[in-house]
Amino acid sequence: MRWLRCPYCGATNDREDRWCGRCGLDITLDIQGSLHKSLAYLLAAVIFYIPANLYPILQTTKFSNVEGSTIIGGVIQMWAEGDYPVALIIFVASVLVPLLKIVVLFYLIFTIWRRRCKNFGQKILLYHLIEITGPWSLIDVFVVVLLVALIHFQSIAIIPGIGASSFALMVFFTLLSSYALDERILGEICER
Ligand SMILES: [Zn+2]
Repeated sequence: MRWLRCPYCGATNDREDRWCGRCGLDITLDIQGSLHKSLAYLLAAVIFYIPANLYPILQTTKFSNVEGSTIIGGVIQMWAEGDYPVALIIFVASVLVPLLKIVVLFYLIFTIWRRRCKNFGQKILLYHLIEITGPWSLIDVFVVVLLVALIHFQSIAIIPGIGASSFALMVFFTLLSSYALDERILGEICER
């Protein structure tokens, strides 16, 4: 492959060029650097995944009683109350999808590191799926914000708990990890 696409402006440049001819940015493909960055961000995401699920995502204060609700706790409660669709959406969006993304990113980093080109098309597809669904992972934080805005009983105060900030950070680091994993690397390794 003689050409290299600029990841910032999309211009096609000669492989030998160090700087993009259109926007002037550094376009050298740093495979090792990208892998290290992606792995570091991914480990940070894993670290935040734990408090995101163990600590309350919501805290309600009613008559000076502080009660916290974790994601799983909320899902179980909603399920018990018969809110099956909402319980299912929250479970898929905040427990299942983030976990799957982390697993897929580990898998992609591992296969690039081992230079395995089998099922190349599938890997590109997985990568794009992660990229496309990235911003949607924050749907949970939106739910918390909505709840806080909607529920305004005078005797009940609802504030986002540690779980909510951990969740937001986990989503943020997963995004950084997928962006650090330069899409061009897969092509580069497999087309040589
Ligand atoms: Zn450019």
